[in-house]
Amino acid sequence: GGKWKVALIGSGNWGSAIARLVGKNIKERSDEFDTEVKMWCYEEDFEGRKLTEVINEKHENVKYLPGIDLGDNVVAEPDLIKAIEGANALIFVIPHQFIIETCKQLEGKVPSNTQAISLVKGVDVKDGQIHIFSEVIKEHLDIECAALSGANIANEVAKEAFSETTIGCRDIEVAKRWARLFETEKFRVAVSKDVLGVSLGGALKNVVAVAAGLIDGLQWGNNAKAAIMRIGLLEMKRFALEFFPGTEPETFVQESAGIADLITSCLGGRNRKCAEAFVTTGKTFDQLEKEMLNGQKLQGVQTAKELHEFLKARGKADNYPLFTFVYRVAYEGVKPDTITAHI
Ligand code: NAD
Ligand code: 13P
Ligand code: CA
Repeated sequence: GGKWKVALIGSGNWGSAIARLVGKNIKERSDEFDTEVKMWCYEEDFEGRKLTEVINEKHENVKYLPGIDLGDNVVAEPDLIKAIEGANALIFVIPHQFIIETCKQLEGKVPSNTQAISLVKGVDVKDGQIHIFSEVIKEHLDIECAALSGANIANEVAKEAFSETTIGCRDIEVAKRWARLFETEKFRVAVSKDVLGVSLGGALKNVVAVAAGLIDGLQWGNNAKAAIMRIGLLEMKRFALEFFPGTEPETFVQESAGIADLITSCLGGRNRKCAEAFVTTGKTFDQLEKEMLNGQKLQGVQTAKELHEFLKARGKADNYPLFTFVYRVAYEGVKPDTITAHI
């Protein structure tokens, strides 16, 4: 088809890193992409000014990705509808708890030939049903939606350190177009048809990363953490195959969106960091998120709760002992050092 005009829905830590990467790429690929990218920002005050004004003046997201030049073709826009005006390619990259409310505001406002891709790591649980966010976006907006997920700590990608990612997309031509939008020498893209596996790897590893952080807080060392990763990966795969028929098990062991994301998150992610502090400080996750993340959002603790609601309703909580343990630690006061009695 014709040119893609890209808009980003989201401007947090990962959203800003992706805006920068896409902004640079489209400058060099102007034959197939419009060279300006609007980035929707959930507006807030920053040191007495509007954050979007500061971003557009400095070309830097001073709050969520400080010290990184976003480029002059990334334009922050506080009005969601204006941000997507004229766009035919939408990148969804907001914390998972805000996706539904954001989609509701977009209902009926997105042309049907629009392509979308979800970079969101999480699942939607409602009325005993569970969905990946590509499906949620597709249902709300009646457009196609791919997924991108991988071992992609935002600050590292923003500094152009090497990493890999996986795009899940059923239409191979569309997948290739997304790959051309995102791929750089340092950001290597693999394409897969397994939208479910790609999405679920990123969603479920957040819970395992919380468990890994608890191990760090307990100072139990590397063998223990490796065991948590192994047990966690199997639980992730089992969950995906049981509740999302059609998921390809290979995705979990072969793709960046599987094992590699699990490893990097258990070594260097925010869920890991806050879970370690949960053990060492005794504070709640809500407190720690506020004190340690400066507005960035934890995904794993809430995902553990959502998975638990879903599993409990089906009488299956005991079949997923690691997920259930993380839930009980975060919400029911179970002591982290009892983990070996649970898993
Ligand atoms: P973040 O954790 O930095 O969250 C902060 C963002 O949320 C800010 O832009 C803030 O304005 C926004 N926000 C706050 N309240 C909101 C509301 N009511 N509605 C809409 N937005 C609101 O966000 P992020 O790091 O960009 O993460 C987005 C998604 O990408 C998550 O699912 C995350 O798991 C995933 N992800 C993150 C990383 C990473 O390293 N940060 C890497 C890969 C994937
Ligand atoms: P955290 O949200 O735990 O920082 O994980 C980031 C991530 O998804 C890296 O791929
Ligand atoms: Ca439809």
